[in-house]
Amino acid sequence: MRQFLIAGNWKMNGSLAANEALVSGIVNGVPDGAGFRLLVCPPFPYLASVASQVTGSAVALGAQNVSEHDSGAFTGETAPFMLVDVGCDYAIVGHSERRAIYGETSEQVAAKFLAAQAAGITPILCVGETLEEREAGTTEQVIDEQLDAVLGAAGVDVFAAAVIAYEPVWAIGTGMTATPEQAQEVHRHIRARLAAQDANLAEKVQILYGGSMKGENAPGLLCMPDIDGGLIGGASLKASDFLAIAEAAAQS
Ligand code: PEP
Repeated sequence: MRQFLIAGNWKMNGSLAANEALVSGIVNGVPDGAGFRLLVCPPFPYLASVASQVTGSAVALGAQNVSEHDSGAFTGETAPFMLVDVGCDYAIVGHSERRAIYGETSEQVAAKFLAAQAAGITPILCVGETLEEREAGTTEQVIDEQLDAVLGAAGVDVFAAAVIAYEPVWAIGTGMTATPEQAQEVHRHIRARLAAQDANLAEKVQILYGGSMKGENAPGLLCMPDIDGGLIGGASLKASDFLAIAEAAAQS
């Protein structure tokens, strides 16, 4: 039985004061139940202060990105062990904004995935198609290319300690959500691709949905058989909005 993971990607939002209020709202409002885990991913400068607030709570800490390198002359980058040092359990890799705005390739994303994992961080591998790709009927090919970069580099076993987030690019920050059926179709495809190499392992991998998830649409998405939680942007910036999604997970 897979647990739900409800993950907040704060992107480039927040301040010391705002984060403190947001995290205390989340920590104090975690719904009862055991079938889910909450995660917050603040911007890098706030990881340590948020870590001190979530330590000992039901909320885990993650980063929004990580370097594929361990140390050295990489100005502006953050090494995987540094994330461990400040208390991170997870790192998002290959978010569509990193791929589109910063030109991250699937090979680079795979290197980040493996570097994070080698340091003991659980990578959350984001995959997803643009609207043009969906309309051209190439959704599965796009997802396969993004997944295969990791599968080809390291095999299926690395997914035993990883999370996948299916995030249709056209649904991120747009208010347009994939229908539960559209999302389920891609989630099933992702799981089947892993299952072709290891059916047992594929059954255990958490596959999150991301793209304008909120309290209102979360119950419909989370009741689909292959959707194991959410990666949430906008609705993770207000404790009550984030907790409404957590509540949907607790009820599912
Ligand atoms: C995201 O940034 O990963 C995301 C899904 O954003 P939003 O929930 O705002 O669409």
